Amino acid sequence: MKGRVAVLPAYGGKFELREYPVPDPEPGAILVKLTRAGVCGSDLHIWRGEMKEIYGSPPRDLTFGHEMCGRVERLGAGVSVDSAGLPLREGDRVTFLYFFPCGRCPVCLRDEMGSCPRKARANRVAGTAPYFNNAYGDYYYLRPGGFIFHIPDEVSDDVATPANCALAQVLYGLTRAGLRQGDTAVIQGAGGLGLNAVAVARDMGADRIIVLDRVASRLELARAFGADHALSLADLTTPERRIQAV
Ligand SMILES: [Zn+2]
Ligand SMILES: [Zn+2]
Repeated sequence: MKGRVAVLPAYGGKFELREYPVPDPEPGAILVKLTRAGVCGSDLHIWRGEMKEIYGSPPRDLTFGHEMCGRVERLGAGVSVDSAGLPLREGDRVTFLYFFPCGRCPVCLRDEMGSCPRKARANRVAGTAPYFNNAYGDYYYLRPGGFIFHIPDEVSDDVATPANCALAQVLYGLTRAGLRQGDTAVIQGAGGLGLNAVAVARDMGADRIIVLDRVASRLELARAFGADHALSLADLTTPERRIQAV
């Protein structure tokens, strides 16, 4: 059996669809048939060639994408439950992680897995086994030990896909920052992360939420997401004026 992967041979160019053999999951691994993939702001930066220091110049047949969800296609030997301990079967709708903290170092043990110095990232060069290492393809190969969770029936693929990027980051960040009921939150930038941060800060009980951005339509969205004050950088031309306005 073969599956397709979207490959980017040159920055700013078209993706090519290439076929690779679909691997059988090793013990502990899970093969997921992807049903949705999202285009994140960072994917656009990669495509435009704005992250060459990480992705290489010129790119070497890049594969990428990290926002996704799907259904379990095949379970490797020994996998019977998800990360919450619920039974996991072929065909189940799932979401899962796309980077791999070691889980054993002092940083991981302090519950800061995002900063793990031994964190492994997905391989981004097309044609590297197990071939399905990123979101833009028919399958995703979840390595042994990768966290995976069922998606509740009432959460659609469209909602679950970006939730595992922007929303998850914002939840983690505001929790670590210690936002508490009654606090004032200042959010710099009303992009995807900023808008999620407004909604989460509201939900966590922030009393006042102040958002700064340069784009009027973004500030309008921030208000719709629950911001009390949306300040335009176009009006506040110096750092001093911004600080005073906040
Ligand atoms: Zn993302
Ligand atoms: Zn670690």
